[in-house]
Amino acid sequence: MSELHNFTLLFLAMLLISTIMRLYLSQRQINTVTKNRSQVPDTFADKISLEDHQKAADYTTTKVKFGRLPLFYDIALLLIWTLGGGLEWLDQNIILALDLNPIMTGIAVILTYTFISSLLDLPFSLYDTFVIEEKFGFNRTTIKTFFVDMFKGSALGLAIGVPLLYIILWLMEKSGDQWWIYTWLVISGFSLFMMWVYPTWIAPLFNKFEPLEEGETLNRIKSLLTRCGFNSDGIFVIDGSKRSSHGNAYFSGFGRNKRIVFFDTLLKMLNDDELEAVLAHELGHFKKKHIIKGMIISFSTTLIGLGVLAWLMKEDWFYSALGISQPSTYMALLLFTLVMPVFTFAFQPLFSLFSRKNEFEADAFAAEQTDAKYLTQALVGLYRENANTLTPDPLYSAFYDSHPPAPVRIAHLNAHA
Ligand SMILES: [Zn+2]
Repeated sequence: MSELHNFTLLFLAMLLISTIMRLYLSQRQINTVTKNRSQVPDTFADKISLEDHQKAADYTTTKVKFGRLPLFYDIALLLIWTLGGGLEWLDQNIILALDLNPIMTGIAVILTYTFISSLLDLPFSLYDTFVIEEKFGFNRTTIKTFFVDMFKGSALGLAIGVPLLYIILWLMEKSGDQWWIYTWLVISGFSLFMMWVYPTWIAPLFNKFEPLEEGETLNRIKSLLTRCGFNSDGIFVIDGSKRSSHGNAYFSGFGRNKRIVFFDTLLKMLNDDELEAVLAHELGHFKKKHIIKGMIISFSTTLIGLGVLAWLMKEDWFYSALGISQPSTYMALLLFTLVMPVFTFAFQPLFSLFSRKNEFEADAFAAEQTDAKYLTQALVGLYRENANTLTPDPLYSAFYDSHPPAPVRIAHLNAHA
């Protein structure tokens, strides 16, 4: 009984610490952005108007403030599902009602849980899209597109997720003590497969892909690709404007299946020089092997996670400390997925640090291949159009931000110019 008590206490303590930390960071972000709201930072004074600067400040603080509500809501739900007996109740009822074998019971429990959770999350995503994004003029999604996306996403999730879940639960049940190694191999292979099919099969279910039309822009891009020795399966434009006016560009796929994708919204924001600089930055991620490094990190953390799960699922206290009376493989998997983020939250700054380091390297690559001043121009344009704050709180930024804060990033680029 004492072990039960200890793990429950540890879980609650970590939940409390991470919540206080999140609230503290969000308050710092709100304070810093509000404090700097009245004046555009000197380095941006000739590029960003006070009106745009204040819009970015208001957008940032609104987003952070709104983020607190789901934070409390998610904690309440997590406690209800675990210590409150929600999962226990779901499990018992599904066992009684369906009378299936353990693997099928597991699939039924996990699917029901996922379905209920997504319904409970729905009000927040609706509010975010149709109230906040709408208010700041970014939303282009209609209610219809929103629900069609949700329906397609769920159908796809079921079609791909259920067979994968079946394999994982089967391995956990039947393949002995080494199940976590086999499961890791399956998950890793599956991720690679998904990266490979995503650009050609999955992304087109949600957006229209059209080859970038012939002309000056395409020629500039092609010559940059040749200069950098980069082969791709094509350069495409997608109708990002169907959902949001935020602009973006990305690469997807790997091997010969790599696609370069521009949001139509980005093409509208940038001129050819700027577009070339942005693409050079993205190429930098490839050339500096960031994609591979990211995959290695993700595969290693998955392996560690599965190893920890393999240990926990054999311990009765893991279940009883989290409100479950009947240990089972699927419940171990579900509990682990629910509770793990509370413990891994502390590693967030490390991932952010890794990501920001990559951004600097990609910027440096772009500065070698094109003129650094065009990337600076493009970034300033993107900060303005996307209403990104130029004055984030340093600690908040160090903890969460995948990209360096605007002034730091521009200063680095100026050093290259
Ligand atoms: Zn980048």
